[in-house]
Amino acid sequence: NNIVVAIDGYSSCGKSTLAKALAKELHFIYVDSGAMYRAVALYFLRNNIDMQNHKQVAQALKNIHLNFHSRDYQTHITLNDEEVSDEIRLMPVSEKVSTVAAIREVRVEMVKQQQRLGKSKSIVMDGRDIGTVVFPDAQVKLFMTADPKIRAERRYKELLPKNPDITLEEVFDNLAHRDYQDTTREESPLVRAEDAIILDNTDLTPKEQLLFALSKIEP
Ligand code: C5P
Repeated sequence: NNIVVAIDGYSSCGKSTLAKALAKELHFIYVDSGAMYRAVALYFLRNNIDMQNHKQVAQALKNIHLNFHSRDYQTHITLNDEEVSDEIRLMPVSEKVSTVAAIREVRVEMVKQQQRLGKSKSIVMDGRDIGTVVFPDAQVKLFMTADPKIRAERRYKELLPKNPDITLEEVFDNLAHRDYQDTTREESPLVRAEDAIILDNTDLTPKEQLLFALSKIEP
């Protein structure tokens, strides 16, 4: 039977790093649900979609076709056959994505696609509502947190090579802003599932996090 490992938590807590390592170790498929919301946000930005306009949003969702290609457990996502994996990490998308992800119609469509991905294969999926909404029956649920300053520093170092003008303050503000939007939105806000195991990784190395997670999966 296929197994689902659900990893949720705040922005830049190391969810994807742990999810990738776990998928590799267990030979599962890694699915980055945030990349899907980011690709939708990119489409909305490029096409000037009016987010208040339900008709426009519904039509946009019909025109958006997302696909994952797993190579070396990195996320390769295409938006209407165009590779957008790098562009969805840039600031314009990071600034817009949480607003787009708060739209009900967007979530309904993404959740449907995410559930399809977990139907036939064992997966590790990370996001904000995986253990609560997408896979409430997931066999393993982790909820990740870390000190906000540490999170911003980690993300800043990650973004700097491709965004030489970025500042630590800008990254910190973006994370705080997204966490606020994600936890306060009406539609499936970010909350810990009651049965999720908390993992605070402020002082943990990636290896320690992997061992912790594996100990919860293979008792
Ligand atoms: O995971 P990542 O930080 O790339 O996600 C970008 C944004 O997408 C989050 O800040 C959140 O607003 C949204 N998201 C979501 N539900 C998910 C995954 C991401 O609302 N399952």
